[in-house]
Amino acid sequence: MSEAFDIVVAGAGHNSLIAAAYLARAGLSCLVLEANERIGGDTASDELTLPGFWHDSCSTAHNLIQSSPILREDELGLREHGLEYIAPDPVVHLPFPDGESLTMWRDEERTWAEFARFSRADAEAYRRMMADYGRIAPDVGRARYTPVGSGESTGQALARQPDGGRWLRRNAMSAWEVIASEFGEPHVRAFMLWMSFMTMQPPERPGTGLLAYSLAYGRQRHSWTLPRGGSGALPAALARVIEAHGGVIVTGAKVTGLVIEGGRCTGVETAGGDRFAARRAVLSTIHIKHLVEMAPAEAWGEDFRYGVATWQPGISMFVTHYATTQPPRYRGPDGDVVSVASGTPHSAGRMLRLATDFRAGAIALDDPVLLILCPTVADPSRAPEGRHTLKVVGFQPYELADGGPERWDGVKEQVSAANLEQLRRHAPNVTDEVILASAIKSPLDLERMNAHNWHGSCHGGDAGPAQSGELRPVPGWASHRMPVPGLYQTGATTYPGGSVSGAPGRNAAAVLLADLGMSIGQAVRANG
Ligand SMILES: Cc1cc2nc3c(=O)[nH]c(=O)nc-3n(C[C@H](O)[C@H](O)[C@H](O)COP(=O)(O)OP(=O)(O)OC[C@H]3O[C@@H](n4cnc5c(N)ncnc54)[C@H](O)[C@@H]3O)c2cc1C
Repeated sequence: MSEAFDIVVAGAGHNSLIAAAYLARAGLSCLVLEANERIGGDTASDELTLPGFWHDSCSTAHNLIQSSPILREDELGLREHGLEYIAPDPVVHLPFPDGESLTMWRDEERTWAEFARFSRADAEAYRRMMADYGRIAPDVGRARYTPVGSGESTGQALARQPDGGRWLRRNAMSAWEVIASEFGEPHVRAFMLWMSFMTMQPPERPGTGLLAYSLAYGRQRHSWTLPRGGSGALPAALARVIEAHGGVIVTGAKVTGLVIEGGRCTGVETAGGDRFAARRAVLSTIHIKHLVEMAPAEAWGEDFRYGVATWQPGISMFVTHYATTQPPRYRGPDGDVVSVASGTPHSAGRMLRLATDFRAGAIALDDPVLLILCPTVADPSRAPEGRHTLKVVGFQPYELADGGPERWDGVKEQVSAANLEQLRRHAPNVTDEVILASAIKSPLDLERMNAHNWHGSCHGGDAGPAQSGELRPVPGWASHRMPVPGLYQTGATTYPGGSVSGAPGRNAAAVLLADLGMSIGQAVRANG
């Protein structure tokens, strides 16, 4: 390709596509290069089992992005380009080993009544927590969509609340400490702990306290939000916006090197031997562990390289996808429950062991903690008529104590079988006859699918205090500007981190546009 572009974007996950969409709408010519044969990264729909069964190979819930300016204000015109969301009811159903269960419904009063079956005091605590968080949610959300160094941080937003001292304390506590201090009943505690774990942060780690509020609040408000047609509907709509504004997207183009001229990044090289020039900037969503290999060491400086060398992976997932003839059916207090989202927390004690097993590299097959998703319950367009896509997600380490990650290829069938057995304890209708086909993705497979899932990390890397806020990805480089002038970084390795939030993408676009004397506002006001 001889044509030169203003911006060359390396990688086509939802974040870099969001950034490219803002940049293209602002009038910059954009070329997006994606290593895989399809765009989307971890927001993708693939026929993993049988023809016509469109599985969410990674993310299913597009929750965080619901309260973003991207969707709330429809800044990019994604609705017009075919993006539509479904808010399932019930939100989530959690069965317990003793035959009890707890369901979150869209109607908060109905959820409250579920909690009250176990403890009226805990039901009141839930109501109070949702109301308390509702008062600060807009400020916390604004901080998420504010690039580091450009405005109020989460900590500053919390500190200026009328009850700021309490929020600073809750923020610094662990999710488990918050839950244990608010709730007493074991089922309710396990429910809240499972919910707080849904961004894969160890719930006993200090600094996760807000997750005890925000995950339940977000699900209660938006449900387990699904894009109609599958997770890939988001990147597909973004691609239409980019192309409508003259952008070009090329798949099967793995970026292998940065072109550095006069100390500045002026383009990229691909595995196919092509060179693409960028007149204004290169925007990368290549994992930082790989990015530093793409230019000479001196281009980064020692501090940056130290920050990358000490980068840690986060908790990884283990996924089995099924094509089925039925969704899981659970026994609820008033009859069968069929839900898009369900899970098996087992107990608070079992949940609290997850991070310890992860650190030890131990595969634990006793009472696996699961997240189970059957999106076809609310969106039948994802499978042939009367059929379902089912995803069973467990949480397992990438690094295994005895044998390293390569051992995964030999043990994944066994782990998948243990997870299925756990599902069947609660939903016995998922028999062998109901299952038409399956596909297993171990943490190693997730990395093979997408190089950005470094060491199986589904959020780019851990989100502990050393890799959060102004320390993400590396202290001194949290504002998306990389040490090499002309090079910018977005995606899950940048603030505020992983999940389908679009925040790293919008924030990176805001910084890049500002550096070019432009603004997000210009992009938003563009037609079409
Ligand atoms: C199994 C699983 C389930 C998940 N479930 C959820 C969920 O339900 N809800 C939720 O909010 N989050 C979920 N997540 C996390 C979420 O999907 C990710 O954090 C998020 O999608 C990351 O988006 P991104 O744009 O930063 O990067 P990615 O989606 O990882 O995209 C990066 C892209 O860059 C490309 N790339 C990498 N290197 C190169 C290169 N050298 N050259 C060219 N291209 C390159 C990759 O191929 C990829 O397409 C899940 C993740 C996994 C793995």
